[in-house]
Amino acid sequence: MCGIIGYVGAQDAVPIIVDGLKKLEYRGYDSAGIAVYANDGFSVAKQEGRLNALETRLEEQPLFGHLGIGHTRWATHGEPSDVNSHPHIGSQNKIAIVHNGIIENYKQLKEYLERRGVSFASQTDSEVIAQLAEYYHRGNILDTVIKVTGRLEGSFALGIMCLDEPETLIAVKKDNPLIVGVSEHGNFIASDVPAILKHTNKVYYLNDKEITILRKDGVRFFDFDKEELQKTPETITWSFDSAEKGGYPHFMLKEIMEQPKIMRDTINNTSASVREAMNELDITQFNKIVITACGSAYNAGFVAKYVFERLCRFPVEVELASEFRYKDPIVDERTLVILVSQSGETADTIAAMREAKARGAHTLSIVNVVGSAIAKESDICFYTAAGPEIAVATTKAFSAQLVVLYILAIEFALRLGKLTADDSDKLTAEIALLPDKVETLLSQVDTIQKYAASCVGYKSIFFIGRNIDYAIAMEGSLKLKEISYIHSEAYAGGELKHGTISLIEEETLVVAIANCERLYPKIISNVEQVISRGAKVLLLSNFENAEQNDHQSHILLPPTVDLFSPSLSVIVLQLFSYYVAANKGADIDKPRNLAKSVTVE
Ligand code: GLU
Repeated sequence: MCGIIGYVGAQDAVPIIVDGLKKLEYRGYDSAGIAVYANDGFSVAKQEGRLNALETRLEEQPLFGHLGIGHTRWATHGEPSDVNSHPHIGSQNKIAIVHNGIIENYKQLKEYLERRGVSFASQTDSEVIAQLAEYYHRGNILDTVIKVTGRLEGSFALGIMCLDEPETLIAVKKDNPLIVGVSEHGNFIASDVPAILKHTNKVYYLNDKEITILRKDGVRFFDFDKEELQKTPETITWSFDSAEKGGYPHFMLKEIMEQPKIMRDTINNTSASVREAMNELDITQFNKIVITACGSAYNAGFVAKYVFERLCRFPVEVELASEFRYKDPIVDERTLVILVSQSGETADTIAAMREAKARGAHTLSIVNVVGSAIAKESDICFYTAAGPEIAVATTKAFSAQLVVLYILAIEFALRLGKLTADDSDKLTAEIALLPDKVETLLSQVDTIQKYAASCVGYKSIFFIGRNIDYAIAMEGSLKLKEISYIHSEAYAGGELKHGTISLIEEETLVVAIANCERLYPKIISNVEQVISRGAKVLLLSNFENAEQNDHQSHILLPPTVDLFSPSLSVIVLQLFSYYVAANKGADIDKPRNLAKSVTVE
């Protein structure tokens, strides 16, 4: 969370930084700020609210400079306000910083500095970094950065400017992402690639405890012993357009529409790499799989549990990463821990991975962002080919994660002798057909839009299903509540009668998902139960003869193997949530209180 960017070069830093912040706004958007070096000092603009509030302020009071840092915030310590916005500058006006992360020992450091006469302007944990840097600074900013970071506990990606070195931008990171971009006209730091893609596709990924010193004409890297490091840049293959809305009103809708292509790309990329990796990995050595992740990635893991268990007859546990990391988990060298994360920087999932590794488990990750922490640290990584996902509510990355998990499950089942080559080929062929079927569903967007428009007034919407339909109901419910703010619950169809059915009343909507043939009569009984209590029902099902009446609407899904049906159900669920939220006038790409790439605990 929080997006940071910095620039040093021949061009005016302000428009470059503001434009970069727009691409990082998905990481946080409660306030924003910028500082540039100009006229022997720092010029600063900080503004509570969305980035356009900062832009308005900059129109009224323009800033200019060739060296600058910017920040878009998702507050962790201190309310969103002008004064708590970044950049933070020490009280001697000598060192300015932007920070992504949390300084866990900030109270002790603050007291230490206050006892020495330093006074603080904000309530943030981050200000302590600027104040401590000024307190320690003896003229060499590299020495100062090493000394300061040595005292910080927690996580940080930092962009730093110091008046003593007015042509230098410094950055350092631990447990939060940071990239360095190099271009003809100048050099950049940023939390993520889209922020600088307009200027360059040549980037260096900074590792933990590496420091970079950027000047107009070059970039250098150092470790904490001041040893210079030789790093190799990587070329980003995403086009600049992939981080633009391309005519759609929201990134979310654009990303929903991209799904057939990204599923095809992911299937093509993954099939061979899974086979290759499995040649190296003897999966018969494991007696358990644990999938751990957060948010929608957890829901992808929950779907995968059904797929793996059915195909491999192998025990699979699914754990929230934030719980797994602190639960003294029972994993050892006979456990395969699968980590799922779009950004590859999710703080809880990183911690879960490290916990699993420390206990001897083998780690396999499914990640979208190349070069991210989880991609680098896990034993095996498979990339989803989703490209940059900008909307906070994930859609295409989720769909890509599902297909990777299906392909893995088939390969595992084959190697465990639970699936014949023939059956494996049939299932693989079925996966290859999914993108076309998603295309068919997307062509029904008008029907879904119209239905969703009639659902804006519901106070509560339930999602029910059985077996794998229950797993995808969880994602439907999460998607709806995160962007529309309508209360929602996902329930296993059979569980309703054990409590939740008491919440069903006149004018409650229940979205029932029914793609498992053998369980169809069971879920239909549950549907009858809620209709008898006054609910309206939307049935998503691949059964052609489903009833339609005053109480029940039906959206027909293309047929597929039930294990892969979540990839089709989720398309309707995403479009439904999107259009409910759009009809409510919600800020779809930036839902309140949320941010993408959750790099804090
Ligand atoms: N802890 C900092 C603040 O609240 C940065 C938060 C973040 O990176 O999410 O300002």
